[in-house]
This record gives sequence, structure tokens and C-alpha cells, in this order.
Amino acid sequence: LLLAYDPARRLARVQVGMERSLVNARMIYELLDLTPQQGDAPGASAIKVGKGEVRFDNVSFAYSPDIPVLHGLSFTAEAGKTTAIVGASGAGKSTLVALLQRFYDIGGGAIEIDGQDISKVTKRSLRQSIAYVSQQPYLFEGSIRDNIRYGRLDATDAEIEEAARLAAADDFIRQQPLGYDTPVGENGATLSGGQRQRVSIARAIVRQAPILLLDEATSSLDNESEARVQQALTDATVGRTTIVIAHRLSTVINADRIVVLENGRVAEMGTHASLLADPHSVYARFYRLQGADGLGLVDAAGPATEA
Ligand code: ADP
Ligand code: MG
Repeated sequence: LLLAYDPARRLARVQVGMERSLVNARMIYELLDLTPQQGDAPGASAIKVGKGEVRFDNVSFAYSPDIPVLHGLSFTAEAGKTTAIVGASGAGKSTLVALLQRFYDIGGGAIEIDGQDISKVTKRSLRQSIAYVSQQPYLFEGSIRDNIRYGRLDATDAEIEEAARLAAADDFIRQQPLGYDTPVGENGATLSGGQRQRVSIARAIVRQAPILLLDEATSSLDNESEARVQQALTDATVGRTTIVIAHRLSTVINADRIVVLENGRVAEMGTHASLLADPHSVYARFYRLQGADGLGLVDAAGPATEA
């Protein structure tokens, strides 16, 4: 049975060397509602997500006082549309999606969904409205099936297997000794990076939340898996507000809006065509002088290897 094992104890045993992995583990732990909800405003009520417009209004944030990361960040991710965030490594892209889920409290400004300040609603309701594929997917010790079901606890086995198929995970799962019931080991140790990523994408697909956050969701996949998963992710964006931290140029080109981050600020916004039309734009400069690489993207034609 799901959660029949004690995830709190398992998680406590997980030994990870990197600070960032610990942070990620804590995030997923909170996502699964395994910790008491802390930091909700007194009398906070559940968020009501309608169309799902996401607005960052002059948001500032620092992990510690000496490391400011975001400086007065403002942009709107339109309801039902796909907004791509691009920017060099360290620009603050992953931080932005962490703040939207209230993994940290912002230092100034506000983040709103459909006009509701996310700091004034319950964390639980906020996170239930969001499906998130993190840059470093976290798997719990437990079966592959359970790890997908974390996306939505009442998902049926058929829905889980359909999500896995869409995430190009079904084949490798069936090849495991116990199929969907194969234990993944501590943080998915028995799976490759690309396999973990596909399980995590299946988890997001099964969640069916109105807001979808993809943080370099296919970066560990080989080209063939990526092409299959990309189609499923594109299908998943229909009717959802999607914020995608892109790692492929093709994803950026197809986005309804591109937000270019530079040093924790929005440098510019537009579509691929409108940003390229201004030869002095940061986007055009990087794109023309350094290719996709300058925007923190890999070349769409470049080979990837399954990690
Ligand atoms: P990006 O996703 O654009 O590469 P991040 O949002 O991960 O950038 O990081 C932005 C900045 O914040 C970087 O300087 C990074 O080193 C720092 N940072 C990210 N996560 C943490 C953390 N958990 N603790 C301290 N600093 C962090
Ligand atoms: Mg990142």
C-alpha cells in the first residue's frame, strides 16, 4: 500500500552529499504533505485557481543576506499559455519556480495566482494546483508505481501506466524485475538519471494540475526519449498555465512568451521573433553571437546522452 513504509524515516536516512539535493528532498517532502504545514497565515484559506494567471510583481529574494538572487522581478505568465524562462546558469530560473511554490518566503513584492497573493493562502492548496518537474527529480524509496502515484494519490493503476507511457517510461519499467512494483532504492539509486527524470515527468502528468512548472525537465534524456516526452509535455500544456525553464531552443521558439532573465532581473520579454527583431536585445545578442548556448540552451541538433 502506498505510504505503508515510513517515508519520514526513509528520508531521514537518505545520505546526500550536496546541499542542493537536501533542499530538493525537503521540497518534495513538503509537496507530498508529509510535514505539518508551517508558515500559513492565520485563517489562511484555500486558493481558488480559475484560469491560472501567474503574476510576479517586483519580487526580491535572497537565500542569505549576502547572496541576493532576484531583484524586483516582474512578469506575468498568462493563463493557459506557455511562458519560457531563459537565462544563463545562476540567473535565478529555478529559484523563481521554487518561490511560486513557496519553498521559500520572498523578501519583497508579491506573487499572485488569479489575483490571490500566494502568501495568504494555504501552502497545501497552492501546491495542489501545481505540477512540478524539478531539475533534480527526487524519488522516494518505494516502488516505481508509488513514485508516480505521488502526483495524485487517487490515480488508478491504469492512469499511472498511461502517464508512464506518455513519459516514455513504460518500456523500461516493464523491463524491471517486478515491473511497476520494482523498488527504486534510495532516491531512485537503481535507476539512471534519465529514467528518474521520466518517472518524475509521469508523476507530473498524472497530477492534472492547472499550473505546470517544468525545470529543464528533459535535460537528462537521450534524443529519442526526449522527442517522445516532448510531445507528451506539449500535450500536457494545453489548457494549462505553463512555465518552462527551457533547455532546448525548440521549446523556447514555440513558447507564447519568452522572459529573459539576467542577474535576477527581467532583461526583456517577447516572442522569439520579436526579441530577434531588435538586434540590440540581450536575446538577439546571445543568439547571434553565441548561438543557443549563450541563452543557457543546448543546440537543438546537439546529441544528448542518457545520464
Ligand atoms: P538557475 O536555475 O538560473 O541556474 P538558480 O535559481 O538555481 O539559477 O540559482 C540562482 C542563484 O542562487 C545562484 O547564484 C545559485 O548559486 C544560488 N542558489 C540556488 N539555490 C541555492 C540554495 N539552496 N542556497 C543558496 N544559494 C542558492
Ligand atoms: Mg536551474
